[in-house]
This record gives sequence, C-alpha cells and structure tokens, in this order.
Amino acid sequence: FTPASLSTNVAHKSALSVASVRPETSSPAASDDWSPESWTNAVAKQMPIYEDQEELAGAVKELEKVAPLVFAGEVRSLHEKLARVSQGQGFVLMGGDCAESFKEFHVNHIRDTFRVIMQMSLVMTFGSAMPVVKIGRMAGQFAKPRSEPNEVIDGVSLPSYRGDNVNQEEFTPEARRNDPNLMVKAYYQSAQTLNILRAFSTGGFADISRLHAWNLDFVEDTAEGSRYRKLASKVDESLRFMKAIGIDTSSPEFTSVDFYTAHECLLLPYEQALTRQDSTTGKWYDCSSHMLWVGERTRDLDGAHLEFTRGIGNPLGVKVSDKCTPDELIRIINTMNPQNIPGKLSIIVRMGAEKLRKNLPELIRAVQREGKAVVWISDPVHGNTRKTDGGFKTRDFDNVRAELRAFFDVHDEMGSHPGGVHVEMTGEDVTECTGGVSSVTDESLKERYNTACDPRLNGSQALELAFLIAERMRL
Ligand code: PEP
Ligand code: MN
Repeated sequence: FTPASLSTNVAHKSALSVASVRPETSSPAASDDWSPESWTNAVAKQMPIYEDQEELAGAVKELEKVAPLVFAGEVRSLHEKLARVSQGQGFVLMGGDCAESFKEFHVNHIRDTFRVIMQMSLVMTFGSAMPVVKIGRMAGQFAKPRSEPNEVIDGVSLPSYRGDNVNQEEFTPEARRNDPNLMVKAYYQSAQTLNILRAFSTGGFADISRLHAWNLDFVEDTAEGSRYRKLASKVDESLRFMKAIGIDTSSPEFTSVDFYTAHECLLLPYEQALTRQDSTTGKWYDCSSHMLWVGERTRDLDGAHLEFTRGIGNPLGVKVSDKCTPDELIRIINTMNPQNIPGKLSIIVRMGAEKLRKNLPELIRAVQREGKAVVWISDPVHGNTRKTDGGFKTRDFDNVRAELRAFFDVHDEMGSHPGGVHVEMTGEDVTECTGGVSSVTDESLKERYNTACDPRLNGSQALELAFLIAERMRL
C-alpha cells in the first residue's frame, strides 16, 4: 500500500523488467459470455441456501453500493510481483486465521498477526536474499466450506456453521439460520481491518529500523525469539553500513511495505457484489481482496467458483490435494488462466508429506510439459489435520515441517521453483497446534484453544517455520 500503488494505473516502480507480463489482458475477451453473475448458471457447491430471496437481494444491493476495499492498481502491482515469483525471483508468504470472526475482531489481533508476518518476512528475505511477497489471509476470510451440511449434537441436527458472514456458531436454530445481512457486516469489518493494515504498512510500524519491536512478547524468551534477535542485530549492522555509505534509509523502501490481502472465493453473492469494472482499463476486478483462491472442495471444472473467477482480473489461487490428477490440473489452469499469463495463477498444494512426494512430481511434470506459468505454493497445514482423544482438531508441527521439506525436495528434483508458503497462523500465544519449540502437547491444547475453525500456528511456531524456509531457500 505504498502511495504509488494506491493510484489505479501506475507503472511498477521496480527496475526489474518483466517483458512477458501483461496483467491488463487477464480478463476474458469482451465477446465472452462471462459476467459477474454468470456463475449463477453453474452448480455452486458449498453455497448457503437463503430462505428469503428478497432479503438476499437487499443485502447484495447494499454491497453493490459500498466502496471497493482494494483498487485495481494495487491488484496489478501484486500481479507483477507474483509474475516475478513465477519466474523464480521471489517467494510468497501468505498467512492468517482460518476464519476471521466478529467476536475476535480487535486492532491488537490484527497488529499481532501483521507483526509475525513482518518477522517471518524479515527472516526469509535476509536468509534467502529474495523479495518476499506478503499476503494476509485477512479482511475477508470469513466463509468456510464444511464437510457435513448438518451438525448433530445429542440427536439434534442443525445446519453447520459456515463462517461469520453466513451464520453464527452458537448451536441454536436462530443462530444457524443463513442471514445475508451478515455479508454486509463482514464487509464493514473488512474495511476496518484494511484500514488498520494500510496504517501499519505505511504509517511507521513497518519501518525496518523498528525490527526489534516486531518481536512478540511471548516469543521473546524462546529459542526462536533469541534467534530472531540475533538476525535482527545483523540486519541492523547492514543498515548502519548502508547509512554510512550514503544510502537514505528513511526512503519508503525502508519505512513501508507492500502488504496484500487474500481470502477463499467461496461466498459468491458477496464476491459478485464487490466486483467492479476498472475505469482505466474496462476490466473486471473483484474489489473484496487483492488475490482470491478457490478451495479444494469447490474447484470443479464446470462449477460456479471457476466460472466466477475466470472472469476477474485479480491474481488467483487454487488449492489442490492428492485427489487432483495432472490432467485435471491442466484443465483448471486452462480455465483460470487461459492466456497463460505469468503471476495470474498460483497452485496451492496441500497433501501431507507422504502424498506430496508421490503426487506433486507428476503435477509439476504436466505443467512443465504444457509450458504453463504458475506459482507453486505449499500449504503445509491443511493436509495435516487430526483429532485428539480429547476432541480437539489439531496439527503436529513435525508433520507441517515434513510437508514443507517434501515440497522443497520435490521442486529441487524437478528443477522448478518453490514459490511460497500458505499457513494458518496468528501472532497470539494460542495452543492449537502441537509441537515445535513452543512444545504444545495434546494435554495443553485446552489452555488457549481460541480458533473459530482450524487450528493455527502460534507466533513462535510460525517464526520457526520461517527459519526453516530461509534455510531451504539459501540452497
Ligand atoms: C482453508 O484454507 O481454510 C481451506 C478450507 O482450505 P482447503 O480448501 O485447502 O481445504
Ligand atoms: Mn482452514
């Protein structure tokens, strides 16, 4: 969110030229039958059924009038950064809550997550000497796909909770009713979140000379905290050296960061209402977020989610598990990025280490054979969820680490670029995932298990992961 990227048609300030990148051509041709509502002709999986169609239409109408949350120029600047990653120059760091919630909303919560992302990014940039593209699962990450449409407790069956922008978590028929007005509430909370993120990224908080202040209190005393302090001192030294030779370390490159947002493109009435035509290029952008991804459960080739996303100019992602065949992946790529524009599409792989070692090579081989430009991102958390005897949904840090290692190993073997990581994490001292230096155990999960959905890495586990990535990227 540098002032430059706020304008709608700005050339990228970087000196790197990427001749093959033309993000402005990434929407379908005008003759195409795509429109922001053409998805309604396809089957939309995981979509809440609203009883009152008039109430739904009213909420959508209200959202059609609200201000865009992000601007086309910002979206294009992210696209250009991702295009460089697809060519091996850079690494993507995506992180945040599994689901944002109304109850947990607080400026401190956003600050803490932002702070860990900054820490991780510093570790990774310094370790690898590669630019890190920072993207928060924030300001719109509300809607959740569910494996069961209903939840049964003590013989009572009610619709599943689908995220705060759809219904409420409480187990009562009133709370579980799908309420379209919650989309409007989620929009206004997202606007606040973005406002805070913009302030943090440009208003002095992200100034690299404050890098010591990014260390989180509860991480400070851990091994990872002291590792971070050591690295921060090295960066300090480099900054002093730069100053001494006359480099202006008060320029925006040092005092602000480009920070982007992303969420799962699941709740299509919301996404449709926030899709606007850019006045400078005439292209459609979903202005709810810079980047959107389609989840593992909704990526059907003839489904509504691919129909919607194929028409928007935003960079896209698609989650793939071991269920995705090479042929299916190529067809998904052809639908979501028919013009094969670098940076347009990220493949977010989530399989668990073992399946990844077996399945990822043939996916990469197919992409290489077809000459497709993609960014490969590892989501090392969603393929590693388990339930404890005590009934908690958790993830073992060892398994997360193993999947990430497998991801790097396979890319090494295949000669492709490991382009990023996508994790569920928070800057708070939660006990939701086991293991790592923070040594959370099955027994201690109950102490601070706060997530509204999937278990998140806490600040020190997230930082530990960043050091691991930095080590692998240096190779
Ligand atoms: C998620 O990212 O929270 C999610 C539901 O992921 P996936 O589609 O990979 O299961
Ligand atoms: Mn999740």
